[in-house]
Amino acid sequence: MELSHIEHLGIAVKSLETAIPYYEEKLGLKCYAVEEVKDQKVKTAFFKVGQTKIELLESTDPEGPIGKFIEKKGEGIHHVAFAVKDGVQNALNVLSDKGVQLIDKAPRKGAEGLNIAFLHPKSTVGVLTELCENPNEK
Ligand code: ZN
Repeated sequence: MELSHIEHLGIAVKSLETAIPYYEEKLGLKCYAVEEVKDQKVKTAFFKVGQTKIELLESTDPEGPIGKFIEKKGEGIHHVAFAVKDGVQNALNVLSDKGVQLIDKAPRKGAEGLNIAFLHPKSTVGVLTELCENPNEK
C-alpha cells in the first residue's frame, strides 16, 4: 500500500451558500463543482489547491453523518482523504491485517466517481480518514 498525496480535506459546513463565498472571494479559489451525494446525505462543493482539493460538505439531512457531526462538534475539518496508488481494496486489506478498524470493508462510490472507503477514527488517532482512488487515473 502506498499513499501518494492528500487527495482532499473534507470540511463540514452548515451552508454551502455562505461557505463558498469565503473560499472564492477571500481566498481566491474557484468552486469548480457542486454535487449531491445522496448516499451520504450531503451536498459537496469542490475547490482545487495544487493537486489537493477542498471538499465542503453540507448536510441534506440532520440525521446524516455530516448533520450529526455539526450537531456534536460544529463546523470544521471532518476528514482527511489520502490518494492510494495500488487500489482501495488492497489498502483496506493491508490495514485490516495491521489491526486498523475499518468503516467500509469494501470501496464504494464517492463524489467525482472516486472509489472511496473510510477508516474508523478509533484506529486513526482521532482523525476520520478516507482512502480514495480515481478509477480513471490508472
Ligand atoms: Zn471526502
